[in-house]
Amino acid sequence: MSAVFDIGPLTAAVNRLPGVGPARAERLAHLLDRPSPAETRIFDILSHVPFSFIDRRHRVTIADAPDKAVATVTMKVVRHEKSRRPGGPSRVIGDDGTGELAIVFFRGGEAWRLGNYPIGEWVRVSGLVEWWEGRPQIVHPDQFARVEGPDAPFDERFGLEPVYPLTQGITSGILSGLIAAALEKVPAVPEWLDGPFVAREKLPTFAEALTRLHHPESAEDLDSAAPARRRLAYDELLASQLALAIVRDRERTHRGRARKWDAAAVDAIEADLPFSLTPSQRLALAEIAADLAAEHRMIRLVQGDVGSGKTVVALIAAAMAAGDGGQTAMMAPTDLVARQHFETLSRSLEAHGIPVRLLTGRMAEAERAETLAGLAEGEIKVVVGTHALFQSSVNFSDLALVVVDEQHRFGVHQRMALSEKGPDSDLLVMTATPIPRTLVLAQFGDMDVSRLTDKPAGRQPVETRAVSLANVSAVIERLAAAVARGEKAYWVCPLVEDNEDLELESAVNRARVLTERVGGVVGLVHGRTPTAERERIMNAFKDGDLSVLVATTVVEVGVDVPDATIMVIEHAERFGLSQLHQLRGRVGRGSKPSTCLLLYKSPLGEIARQRLDTMRATNDGFRIAEDDLKLRGEGEILGTRQSGAPSFRFADLTHHGDLLATASDDARLVVATDRNLERERGKALRALLTLYERRRAIERLRSG
Ligand code: ADP
Ligand code: MG
Repeated sequence: MSAVFDIGPLTAAVNRLPGVGPARAERLAHLLDRPSPAETRIFDILSHVPFSFIDRRHRVTIADAPDKAVATVTMKVVRHEKSRRPGGPSRVIGDDGTGELAIVFFRGGEAWRLGNYPIGEWVRVSGLVEWWEGRPQIVHPDQFARVEGPDAPFDERFGLEPVYPLTQGITSGILSGLIAAALEKVPAVPEWLDGPFVAREKLPTFAEALTRLHHPESAEDLDSAAPARRRLAYDELLASQLALAIVRDRERTHRGRARKWDAAAVDAIEADLPFSLTPSQRLALAEIAADLAAEHRMIRLVQGDVGSGKTVVALIAAAMAAGDGGQTAMMAPTDLVARQHFETLSRSLEAHGIPVRLLTGRMAEAERAETLAGLAEGEIKVVVGTHALFQSSVNFSDLALVVVDEQHRFGVHQRMALSEKGPDSDLLVMTATPIPRTLVLAQFGDMDVSRLTDKPAGRQPVETRAVSLANVSAVIERLAAAVARGEKAYWVCPLVEDNEDLELESAVNRARVLTERVGGVVGLVHGRTPTAERERIMNAFKDGDLSVLVATTVVEVGVDVPDATIMVIEHAERFGLSQLHQLRGRVGRGSKPSTCLLLYKSPLGEIARQRLDTMRATNDGFRIAEDDLKLRGEGEILGTRQSGAPSFRFADLTHHGDLLATASDDARLVVATDRNLERERGKALRALLTLYERRRAIERLRSG
């Protein structure tokens, strides 16, 4: 991409700023969470958003000076006082006509003090004022200026002072100096936003917005609804949406293959299922069939609440692909879920002559080699696995369909790495986390969506109750009675932050207590249970002689035991909403009524109480996701930490969700009208993509 105009000053490394040597650049990279000092750019400094502000606009006369509060005072220096004892503080005394104020110094020599605070001159200082022995004082003022007289105009140092996250070696003084220097480097850039939109929203220019972010003029400027904040958030969201739209545009126009298969053979597989499909499963499959049969590549999200039956949709889709001789790769988030999907798929498909294999990181080498060979030669039609699937040693003869289950646990890059193993492959993403529309957009950009809105017939809603942990023995009694009636229960013990030992201990203890009361039908699985053992226990719970499964959150994702009817979640107050909902979705899968007991430790905090209220009020995953967004913010819902999903510098989806939808439309329109970003606005947008390091999109633009 030729540089259309120069944003180089912003993408230059921080060592171009005065006072930034190797050591300081290293500290800045750390502070700004950048991969290396060389990749820490001047724009990254400007994207360091203040988390609060010190208000120095509290301008007082000395007589009215507050005690233990920040204030700004303008006064005439009347004398210097030396400490009465050696090593004690020195004082500069000022007077504004209403009284005297002392500036206290523990450091700095006399010559320095006399130079800065000459007797008879006016000075302005700001800092924490405290009254001491009948006189106000400021110890080491934060801001200091020599002024002409009592009425000298206030400069920005005595306005709102931003407070930034800091790190060792980067003090607020150093940082504000760097930000000032960085602001001076901001070049005049052509507007990359749509003119009418900017006018309608009354947005400042990019440069103005950055200045206002670091030099707010009023308390309103600090609000996420402030025009400058919205401007920067919109730029950022547009960059991400545009990048997704460009990549998506290239993916779509890259021709897929029109697949053909024998519908009767697929119908036969469907007819062999132990149930009939729900209307929304049918609808989703009709949409998938149309995509597979068409020449364009499918990029489709299947969104369905826990228990809505997504696996079988993937199963039939794989049968369609196999009918054309094509291969399907299905990626699951954990070994356990991969194995379970493998069992589901192989049970149905193998009976109809479609070979299915499992591929995980923990397989024996010989078995693995055999599977790899079968995939490369094309005789294995379906492979189910974990992240082991996108390793470079895995090759396909004709990869037709990529299915990604619980996508939010994978990064977009991993998904693409797998898709690229089959240049014409269609993509199906399945998610149980009912991501709100805004978040689908943020993470995946524009994709087709099939929603499984109805649950399989005969399902009963799960009754949810919150019970104090103080009543745990009553809960155990009821559990024992239910088990005696032949019911099955999960008992989930919480994650203990950074303390796997403690976590293990609580699960082990709980299993022991339950065994004492309920008998030898209690199984225990946790993060350290070896895979083989975990599988043995899970299977015994599913089909064998275990009735109670005590587990840490390993049961969260995808485990399917249709006749389990009780879910007890211990320390429910420590779980997030969507996590609680996911766990609850493990029961209520059969036709028997189910119960979810949320055991909480009192007293409950406000947010925890709201979560439990929401859980009791609704079984609707979409509503829960929306509430979750309100309570927690987007990062946690998307599981940003695991997946490398977008995390924003300026945008906050709880406040800027409306901008996201606009940015998405805007991006699509740009790609539709100027797909190579060659027009005037397009060229400006290239700079925006560079600023936000949308490298993949920039590469795609380059390759045409
Ligand atoms: P999820 O959408 O949470 O991944 P699963 O695919 O694991 O759900 O399905 C949940 C359970 O519902 C499984 O036991 C599955 O066999 C069953 N199931 C799926 N579709 C139907 C249906 N149409 N009728 C009855 N049961 C179904
Ligand atoms: Mg599932």
